[in-house]
Amino acid sequence: MTDAENYDYDLFVIGAGSGGVRAARMSAQYGARVAIAEERYLGGTCVNAGCVPKKLFVYAAEFAHSFRDAAGFGWQLGAAKFDWPALRDNKNREIARLNGIYSELLDKAGVTVIEGSARLLGSNRVAINGGEYSARHILIAVGGWPWMPGIPGGELAISSNEVFHLKEFPRRVIIVGGGYIAVEFAGIFNGLGAETHVVYRGELFLKNFDQDLRTGLAAQMANQGVKLHFDDDIVRIEKNADGALDVTLRSGASLVVDAVMYATGRKPKTSGLGLENTAVALDDQGAIKVDDRFATTAPGVYAIGDVIDRVALTPVAINEAMVLADNLFNGGNGAMDYSNIPTAVFSQPTIGTVGLSESDARAQFGGNIKIYRTEFRPMKQTLAGGSDRVMMKLIVAADTARVLGCHMLGDAAGEIIQGLAVAIKAGATKRDFDATVGVHPTAAEEFVTMRLSV
Ligand SMILES: Cc1cc2nc3c(=O)[nH]c(=O)nc-3n(C[C@H](O)[C@H](O)[C@H](O)COP(=O)(O)OP(=O)(O)OC[C@H]3O[C@@H](n4cnc5c(N)ncnc54)[C@H](O)[C@@H]3O)c2cc1C
Repeated sequence: MTDAENYDYDLFVIGAGSGGVRAARMSAQYGARVAIAEERYLGGTCVNAGCVPKKLFVYAAEFAHSFRDAAGFGWQLGAAKFDWPALRDNKNREIARLNGIYSELLDKAGVTVIEGSARLLGSNRVAINGGEYSARHILIAVGGWPWMPGIPGGELAISSNEVFHLKEFPRRVIIVGGGYIAVEFAGIFNGLGAETHVVYRGELFLKNFDQDLRTGLAAQMANQGVKLHFDDDIVRIEKNADGALDVTLRSGASLVVDAVMYATGRKPKTSGLGLENTAVALDDQGAIKVDDRFATTAPGVYAIGDVIDRVALTPVAINEAMVLADNLFNGGNGAMDYSNIPTAVFSQPTIGTVGLSESDARAQFGGNIKIYRTEFRPMKQTLAGGSDRVMMKLIVAADTARVLGCHMLGDAAGEIIQGLAVAIKAGATKRDFDATVGVHPTAAEEFVTMRLSV
């Protein structure tokens, strides 16, 4: 009998989210005997309380722009009326369909799915639903959980977990936070017709993004009616007799709203996991420490995704999973390449970005960079009459002409940046961009027609 056959499974995955499902499926395809435990919902945060329902809400909100723009193109529309329960329930049906697809995918791959909350008993043992299993390798892919600061009345606020299931649509809402989730939900609520406030303690949201994108987006959101309260914070929330929330800000201002949503970050979800029974170590932020092969400090125990808090994005968790499965069961010995990860913010307008921001490039290359930047009124607005602007920016190394960063604020920026990310990953230079023929008439063609650095 081989060593592997002494264990119930070759791999026991805790958490069937973006990372866990991919690791389980790939490992099973490589011939491993795999079980996956899930305590809440198949597909994890992204499918159930993240990327997918959020993007569906973004689509809903974007109709407001189309209705506004339609008259200039000859359309006469009646009064638009938004039906929140219809959107929420249609979204729920789609998510249920996706849950089913995840179940089928795991089933077809031969992965054993165990519903319940799993707890480590040691490096090779897991307890779940009163039973115990042994595994040669254990993968922790439990993701994160919203973090909300403790303030008086904080229990009256919601997080991104609850926002997808609200019984009633809030007519007035405060979003607290300065990350992409806060910005996206501000666009969603504003587009759907709520009076929308963003309260953020910093001077400007989206801290790690290029400054031009940040200021450009703030200006356009303000123009669309979002009320931005920067350098401010909520100190107290009280419930009025009529059920509305009376919110006091640090600046002394007070707002009356129907909902307060905190989007103030997420923390690795390690409590109750039984880590005390293992040698798994956490860093200062509570994330599981791993090496560049995703091995924790306990032999045989690995971790990927939001719980290691490197880059908390679904495609990153998925890529980490593929590297790990290849290393464990396909003879690989790779590490994940975290450079040039493209990303989008599904704000209105959208941000798409890959590579270095201007300030990061300056920090790394000193003054030895060139900036190409363009800002214009998109063609659609000529008839629509709106004041939307598109902004594009390339950061180029002066010595090598290599394009270090590529940034866009405007419709479809997320779609456009995915293609450009391939070029950036392949090491494209500004000469390659210049030699590429544009697609006309598009906004994206500006990326290959900018000639003068600023
Ligand atoms: C509102 C919001 C919007 C987002 N939008 C985007 C986006 O547009 N693009 C993008 O790339 N990313 C987005 N993200 C981030 C993305 O959802 C995460 O990066 C991704 O889901 C991380 O995958 P994961 O596998 O690490 O964890 P998760 O997907 O969170 O999965 C972890 C799973 O483990 C389960 N679990 C936890 N503990 C246990 C246990 N003890 N036993 C059994 N099961 C357990 C959980 O129930 C969960 O299903 C968004 C996140 C949020 C909150």
